[in-house]
Amino acid sequence: MGEDIRCFRCGTCCIAPDISTLGKPVGVPCRHLTPENLCGIYPDRPSICRNYRPDEICVALQQISASERVPYFLQIYGLETDNKQ
Ligand code: SF4
Ligand code: SF4
Repeated sequence: MGEDIRCFRCGTCCIAPDISTLGKPVGVPCRHLTPENLCGIYPDRPSICRNYRPDEICVALQQISASERVPYFLQIYGLETDNKQ
């Protein structure tokens, strides 16, 4: 508790969750996410992004392959994509 966990810049939190203020659906990369997994509007990003803090889930995400990160994140938070088959 209280320990700072750094962001690994995996981009998962800018891809997996829905962000209504950005009109971003579940599982779709935010249109502001750069190819380097940076925020293209960092100084002007909405408060929901501003308030997001890396946590233990970020550490867990780094233990699995990149392609598994979004599905893992969605599973943890009980989110489903619209086009799930
Ligand atoms: S999921 Fe965590 S480690 Fe990955 S970009 Fe978001 S805050 Fe950073
Ligand atoms: S606005 Fe920036 S921080 Fe927020 S989801 Fe998009 S890329 Fe990520």
